[in-house]
Amino acid sequence: SVNRLRRLLQPAPAAAATDAGPSSRFAKKRKAANETPAKPVESEASVGVETPVKRQKRHRRKLSKKRLEAAAAAEEARKLGSEKSDKNRQKKAAAGALIGGGEQGLLASKFRYLNEQLYTLSSADAFEMFKADPEAFKVYHAGYSAQRQRWTEDPIDWVAKQCRLGLPAGSSVLVDFGCGDARLASRLEGHCAKVHSLDLVALNNRVTACDMARCPLGNNIAHGAVFCLSLMNANLSDFLAEASRVLRLNGLLCIVEARSRIERTQRFVNLIERFGFQCQRRREDKYLVYLLFNKSRNRKAGEPLPELRLKPCLYKKR
Ligand code: SAH
Repeated sequence: SVNRLRRLLQPAPAAAATDAGPSSRFAKKRKAANETPAKPVESEASVGVETPVKRQKRHRRKLSKKRLEAAAAAEEARKLGSEKSDKNRQKKAAAGALIGGGEQGLLASKFRYLNEQLYTLSSADAFEMFKADPEAFKVYHAGYSAQRQRWTEDPIDWVAKQCRLGLPAGSSVLVDFGCGDARLASRLEGHCAKVHSLDLVALNNRVTACDMARCPLGNNIAHGAVFCLSLMNANLSDFLAEASRVLRLNGLLCIVEARSRIERTQRFVNLIERFGFQCQRRREDKYLVYLLFNKSRNRKAGEPLPELRLKPCLYKKR
């Protein structure tokens, strides 16, 4: 998977010179390299734009490899963020690259940066962010897959099992909100008549690219709805309202979330129930909370949305 990550990030020409040696050298002199990454970014950028190629090469040789690495990370973070993006985040991303070392560190910090963006932006902004840079979405998903390996269980296994048990074979329609690469649809092939796999970017042709706060599906069309680690973005309540809208009465709602995001599970369950669901099953392991609901009523037109908030799931530097 490291090779896959590497392939995903082809350094831009200006950043190619940052392909410096092993990370340990950087780690030792981390302090020395901490000449704030913002400065090298400026010089890199201006070199790239204004000076002739020969001068550019000479100039690059003069810069230490460590500074170039920090500059590239900050530049990547800058590219990934909106114009309004916080300078501190860019510095942290650059620092992450130095700590992790080399390309892997750079990818890890890109993943952490994108992950944080997904938890803090509104879904409309997250949709625009990836629309402008679909490659960043691939980096995010490579990072998510790596993260998944650390969990004791792949949450999709539990979700697929609940769907097989709770949805009638052959005729059921399922909506997978925030499907990633639509692994659930592959798992349920032959069981569901149709799986609508929705995500911000279509990683393959099973996926419909959309903001799931406004999904292109009719009312009461689905027998099941799933949020597997996908209750991200600032406007979570809109997602639950959408799930309620597309689900039929008694339809199944499966939610798996990181435990660290939920302060008190019972309080979270109560909140979800206020959207017109009833909890049927509940399970927790070291990392995840698994919840199964059914839709117990239709929401009234204009009914106010309960406010649903979860802590962001920020992955540690490793
Ligand atoms: N459910 C998948 C992927 C989990 S990663 C799995 O378990 O393998 C979380 C996914 O939710 C990401 O792909 C992210 O893009 C998606 N997501 C987050 N907010 C979204 C939104 N507003 N609309 C559509 N997808 C969203």
